[in-house]
This record gives sequence, structure tokens and C-alpha cells, in this order.
Amino acid sequence: MLLEYPLFYPDFACIGKTCKDSCCRDWLIDIDFDTAEKYQRMGGALGEKLRKKLHKKDGEFYFEVEKDGRCPFLQEDGLCEIQREKGEEELSKVCDAYPRRESMVYPYMQLDLHLSCEEAAKAILSWKGELIREELEDERLSEKENISENSTGESGQDELLVSLLAFRQGLWEALPDFPQDISGFFAELKTVFLQGEELLFYENKAFPYDEELEALEQGLRSSFFSEESFREYCKMNEEIQGRGELWKSFLTIFHRAEKDLQNKMQSFYREKDKLYLEELCRYYTFRYLMTGLKKKSILPLFHLIRKCILWMAYTDSILQYYAKEEEKQLFFFGEEKAFFRVAVFFSKEVEHQKKNMDLFLG
Ligand code: SF4
Repeated sequence: MLLEYPLFYPDFACIGKTCKDSCCRDWLIDIDFDTAEKYQRMGGALGEKLRKKLHKKDGEFYFEVEKDGRCPFLQEDGLCEIQREKGEEELSKVCDAYPRRESMVYPYMQLDLHLSCEEAAKAILSWKGELIREELEDERLSEKENISENSTGESGQDELLVSLLAFRQGLWEALPDFPQDISGFFAELKTVFLQGEELLFYENKAFPYDEELEALEQGLRSSFFSEESFREYCKMNEEIQGRGELWKSFLTIFHRAEKDLQNKMQSFYREKDKLYLEELCRYYTFRYLMTGLKKKSILPLFHLIRKCILWMAYTDSILQYYAKEEEKQLFFFGEEKAFFRVAVFFSKEVEHQKKNMDLFLG
């Protein structure tokens, strides 16, 4: 089995109490069944508090955050009360693993970090695509049940997987030579995806992208920021299901935005570096490449990349132009406005909910 992970993955270390946007705030904390059982049996004052704070809904256990948005076990010094008293082994699976993520489509496995962690985001947004690859001993061959759970079970999957990895490699090598302006960058990106689509899925009988391929023949060029893309962004905000108070604050700011925002943005984002286009393309193609196996197309991945970056770009400008000073404090913690905070906000509010990403994959 092939295992891949970004070079920065093994070096990740949580910055603990210096983290401004702690993962122990503003989220419901999922508690897995085994840990919940342990918490229910735990003695002492901590056990009592755990039972008081543990809730159950639709068969799932969780800790609800306090009124100020903090996990009930997050202490003033930024450390976790459960970890401090009982050690790491008593943490729930989510708390123990975050922001690390593991995913597998047999015989391929990858490890990476969630963009929703501010320390991970800094590594992701400076990643040049360096990967570590390992051939793993295939212990899973005896676990037939698991294999079929994670595999599409279709013939030709392994070849397609290899082709998808080769497509990604080619794209990553080409990225540094893409046009510097955003519209040009996306025209080139779409061209590469459409060419890849033709090569990888030419046998797809129900090929739904004839029109796009025709457009490719004629050359692609459309403005990234336009009335149409702003309308698209507004529609996304109607459909996205955000999580909590910060999302509500964002929507209040968003509703102040003027209809001609895209004109401001054309000059604001002249260069691709401001939006970390290369780095975000690498992150999303690494993380979501295997959707091509299921969808039998790589174009949903193109649309996902475009929509994620479009959302972040418009949101970045909206916070710049329409947020009041006290609102900026909520998003930027008193620091100078920085794009990586918008990327973290996006990942927390949008990316972590599958139904939102399904919208983006279209
Ligand atoms: S968001 Fe990341 S850096 Fe911050 S507390 Fe959580 S794991 Fe640590």
C-alpha cells in the first residue's frame, strides 16, 4: 500500500496557549463512544464534571462549549484539564488526533493536517508540494471487510489511481509557470483539468462536459471577479451551513457589502501571491484528488478549488472593507489582517462539514 504525507506533517506541534484561534473554542467537541464510556466511569471531581458536561444527541456524545465559546475543560493557561490531570491517553479520539487527518482509498493512504488549525495553516500556505512516500507492508490483506469498505471494488481502479497521481504531479510541476494574474491563473488551471479529463476519462460514456471541452478548443478566458462570480459567492453564503457565533457575525458583515465589490477586488488582487493560489491548489489537489475515483471525473475537483478560493477572496475583501474595528478583532485577534486567518475561518466553518463540501464539489 502506498502512503503519502506532506513534508511538514511529522514536524507539526501544537503551539498550545499561544494559539489565538484555539480548536478548543467555538466547536462542539465530539466524544467517541469508548471515551464517553470511560468518562462515565471516571471517579473524583473530574469524573463528576465530565458527566455533567457530556451530552448525547442522536446516539452521538459531545461536549457543548460554554457561553463564551470555550470548551468546558479549556483552562485559563490554554491547557486542557483532562490532559493535565489524566494524561493524553484519556483524551477523546478527535482531541487526540486533531489537526491530523488520515484518509484511505485502498491501496492508497494519505496523512495531512487540517487547514482549520492556525499553526497547520501556516505550514500549508508555505508548502511547495514536497511529499514523503512510503510503501507499507499490507497488513490489511487479511482484513477483507475493511478493504471492501474503503475501495470502490471496481476493476481498473488501481490504474486510475496511478493516473490521478501522475496528473497531480504534472499539475504541480506546471503551477509555478502559471500566469501571475488571477483570471489567467484560473484559465490555465481549467485548461490543465480539461486536458486531464480528456486523457483520463475519455471512455466515460456519460461525459457531461462537452460544452466545456468545446470552450477549451476556443481558448479559456473569463474574469475571476465579476458580477456573475459575486452572485455565485452570495448564493454560496445562502447555502453554507456555518457553525456558530462567528459565522453569524460574518453574515452580518457580508450583508453590508455593496453590489460592486468585484470592481474593488480586481485591483486589490492583481497578483496571485496574495491569495496563495499555488499553495491552495496543492493543498486541495492533495486532499481531494481521490474524489476523481468516485466521480469518474476530475472536473468537480477543479470546481471545488475555484469555489474555495473564490469564497476566501471575497470574504477577505469583505472583512477588509466592511468589518468594523471590533468585528475585525473577532477575526484577526487584534493583529494585522492576514489572509491565513480567512483560510482558517473557511476551513472551520465550511470545510469541516461534509454537506458544505458536497456543495462545492457540485
Ligand atoms: S488550533 Fe492547532 S495550534 Fe491551536 S490549539 Fe488547536 S491544535 Fe494547537
